[in-house]
Amino acid sequence: MAGHLTLALIKPHAVYSRKVGKIIADIEEAGFGIISGKMLQLREEGARRFYKEHEGKDFFPYLVKVMTTGPVWVLILAKQECVQSWRDFIGDNNPTEAAEGTLRNKYGDHVDRTLNAVHGSATDHDALREINFFFSQELSLLKELVKEENKIGI
Ligand code: ATP
Ligand code: MG
Repeated sequence: MAGHLTLALIKPHAVYSRKVGKIIADIEEAGFGIISGKMLQLREEGARRFYKEHEGKDFFPYLVKVMTTGPVWVLILAKQECVQSWRDFIGDNNPTEAAEGTLRNKYGDHVDRTLNAVHGSATDHDALREINFFFSQELSLLKELVKEENKIGI
C-alpha cells in the first residue's frame, strides 16, 4: 500500500470559496485515483493533533484556526509514487512561490500563505498515519470484513 497512496485535504477556505469542483476535476485530470473521500468538520483538538509537528511555531495558532473555520474535504488518493506526485502537483506551501499550474498557485491565497487551499502528506509513513487519522473507522470495518471472508474461505 505504501508508495501508492496519500492523504489530501481541501482546506476550509477552498471549500467556502467554492473551489472543490475545480480541484477535484484537476485531480482526476492529473491521473490520481480517488479511493475514498468525505467532508468533515475538524475541531480545535483534532486540528492541533493533525498538525502536531508544528506546535510551538508562530503560525500554529492561526493554522489551527484556519483549519477549523469550516468543513474540509478529506481524500485518499492513489497513483504511482503518490506522496511525491501529489506534493509536486500541489506545489510549494507558499502559493506565491508555487509553480504556475500547481494547485496552490491556482487556488491558494497569494497574500496569506496559510490559506494554501490543499494539504498533502509529507512521507509514506505520514500518509499511513494521516489515512488512519481520518479513516480509522472505515479501516477497522474493512479489517472485520476481511476476517469474516477468510473465515468462510472466500
Ligand atoms: P501541508 O502539511 O498543509 O500539506 P506542507 O507540508 O507543504 O503543507 P508544512 O510545513 O507542513 O507545509 O506547513 C503546514 C501548513 O502550515 C501549510 O500548508 C500552511 O498552511 C501553514 N504554514 C506553513 N508555514 C507557514 C508560514 N511560514 N507562515 C504561515 N503559515 C504557514
Ligand atoms: Mg506538512
